[in-house]
Amino acid sequence: MKTIYVIFFVLLTLEFQSCSSIPGASEPTDEQINAESLKAYQEVKAKAKISTNKEWTAMVDRVARRIANASGENFKWEWMLIDSPEVNAWCMPGGKMAVYTGIMPVLKNEAALAAVMGHEVAHATKRHGKQRYARAIKGNIIGAVVGGAAILGGQMLCKTSTCKTLSGLTGAAAGFAITFFDRKFSRGDESQADQVGQKYMAEAGYDPEEAIHLWERMGAANGGKAPSEWMSTHPSEEHRKSDLSNWLPEAKSLYSRAPQKYGLGEKIKSE
Ligand SMILES: [Zn+2]
Repeated sequence: MKTIYVIFFVLLTLEFQSCSSIPGASEPTDEQINAESLKAYQEVKAKAKISTNKEWTAMVDRVARRIANASGENFKWEWMLIDSPEVNAWCMPGGKMAVYTGIMPVLKNEAALAAVMGHEVAHATKRHGKQRYARAIKGNIIGAVVGGAAILGGQMLCKTSTCKTLSGLTGAAAGFAITFFDRKFSRGDESQADQVGQKYMAEAGYDPEEAIHLWERMGAANGGKAPSEWMSTHPSEEHRKSDLSNWLPEAKSLYSRAPQKYGLGEKIKSE
């Protein structure tokens, strides 16, 4: 038991040091962040149970491709559909995405999936939380230093369920993943991801009005709880709805110019 406390203390100390020593000058470059992100993504992928649902996989493939194109970002895009009851989705820096099967029935249609993926991709394209990734890279060092102990430390440091699930990663990617999955974006970042995400979905050919209805359903499905990143620090549901409604005319005008229009896309049936 004593060992656990020692490891915990070491992790906290390192974490504190990394927090307090991030001058702007040493901000990591996109290349550094993307390299760490790729390692963590590959480890997540190796551990994850990939969904065998062909319909859902095909839908995630086409929506991810369209949102990636709409973003105009030259990332080395990758994505996967993870078989897990979690209501979750994320996009790591550099364009590594995951959607969890647990979110699919809540979405109800393809356009809502586009809204979620648009939001997540916007966090990556707008380089949100660069400082957090600076911490994550230092977290990587923590992972490398304590080796296997990072798994245990990760469980103790994690606040979110995704972090707890994925902190079982081993080796150098563990620290990065722990920090990445336990992060919270600021309200300002979340609001920007909503706005930019709504534009991406519109440019990708999905009716941007669905973003408003999606967040209503997400609120109801989560019953006020905060299981995933975009529920945890977001503006209140009312605030979010009024923002998305205010941005709708601009998104609609992008939608009207989209080369292909899919409306709400296909319905998502329960498994
Ligand atoms: Zn978000």
